[in-house]
Amino acid sequence: MKPAASPYPARAAERTRWISERRSARSTPDPRRPAAYLLEEERDETGRIARVATLFLTNRECPWRCLMCDLWKNTLECDTPAGAVPAQMDYAFARLGLRPAKSGGRRGTLQPAPRMLKLYNAGSFFDPRAIPPSDHAAIAARAAPFERVIVECHPALIGPSAVRFRDLLARAADRHPGGPVPAPRLEIAMGLETAHPRVLPRLNKRMTLERFADAARFLRRHSIALRAFVLVKPPFLEEEEAAAWAWRSAKFAFDCGAGLVCLIPTRGGNGAMEALAVRGQFAPPRLATLEQATDETLRLGRGRVFADLWDLERFADCPACLDSRRERLRRMNHNQVVEPPVACPRCQRQTQG
Ligand code: SF4
Ligand SMILES: [Zn+2]
Repeated sequence: MKPAASPYPARAAERTRWISERRSARSTPDPRRPAAYLLEEERDETGRIARVATLFLTNRECPWRCLMCDLWKNTLECDTPAGAVPAQMDYAFARLGLRPAKSGGRRGTLQPAPRMLKLYNAGSFFDPRAIPPSDHAAIAARAAPFERVIVECHPALIGPSAVRFRDLLARAADRHPGGPVPAPRLEIAMGLETAHPRVLPRLNKRMTLERFADAARFLRRHSIALRAFVLVKPPFLEEEEAAAWAWRSAKFAFDCGAGLVCLIPTRGGNGAMEALAVRGQFAPPRLATLEQATDETLRLGRGRVFADLWDLERFADCPACLDSRRERLRRMNHNQVVEPPVACPRCQRQTQG
C-alpha cells in the first residue's frame, strides 16, 4: 500500500514511522540565528499587561514525533553547537532594541522594556541535544534581567535540570553587571494537548495524564510556574465535542496547578495531518469552536486562558466578521472577561457568548 493511503497505525510501535514518512521538506536553518523573534503583549498573573520578548530558537529537532507537530521544519538535524543559543539571544536582543546582559541588561533602546522572556525551542529546553547544558549559565546571564522566563519542555524531561536552571537564573540575577536584580521566576510550558483518554495515546506523544500530573507536581514542589498547551479539536475528535474536550483538558491542567492554559486550534501542514484529513480523521476547528472553548474555559475562573490567535483566518469561514471576532478574542486574552458575541449580518450567526 502507498504510504499516503495506509491508515494511521493502531499499534503505537508503528506510528513514529508512519508520521515520519509523511514529512514534507524542511529548511536548513543557521544555528547562530533564531528561527524568529518578536515582541508580544500578555496578561501576567497580577492582571497587568506585560511586554514579552519571544524568541523561537534554532536547535536540534525534538526526539518525539507527535502526530500533529510541524515544529521540526525549522530545526537542525545535528546536535546544537555549544554557544549557538547565547549567540541567537544576542542577535535577537540587538534587533529588538534590548541590550545583551553583559552590557547592562534589558534596558536598551526599547521602552517600556519587556518584563517577560519566552525562549521557545520547538521541543524541550531541557533536552541536552537541543540546548547544551554547558550553555545554561550563559543563557541565564542573558535572561536574568527579566521578571519571568518561560521555556517549554516535554513532561518526560522535567527533572533536576529544571531546578538547576532555576538556580542559575537566581545566581545570574545576583551577579548582574548593573547590580543585583530580583531573580526571574522560571515558568515551564508543557503540552498537555488533550485529556481525552482515547485521543491522547494516539497523538504519539508517549505521555499519559499521570506523567503530566507528576511533572506538574515536581514543578510545584520546586516553585516553578506551569503553563499548559491544550489543543482545540485534535485529530479523531468531532467538531461538536471539541470545545467540551478543550474545556475538560484545561480543567485537568488547572487541577495540576497550571496558572495559564493556552488554547491552540489544531493546524495541519506536516503531511501526517493531511493524510488523516483525507480519511476524515482530522479537520481544523472552526473559529466558532475556538470561541466556544475560550468562553467556557474562561468561565471556569481557574486561571488565565489565552486563545492562540496566530493565523486565525485559517479557521474562519466568514471574512466579514473575522476581524471583529479576532479583536474580541484578543481583548478577552487581555481582560480575561467573556465578552458578548459578535453579531454578523453576513453569516447571520453569532459567536458563543
Ligand atoms: S513533544 Fe512537542 S515539539 Fe516534540 S514532537 Fe511533540 S509537539 Fe512537537
Ligand atoms: Zn460573519
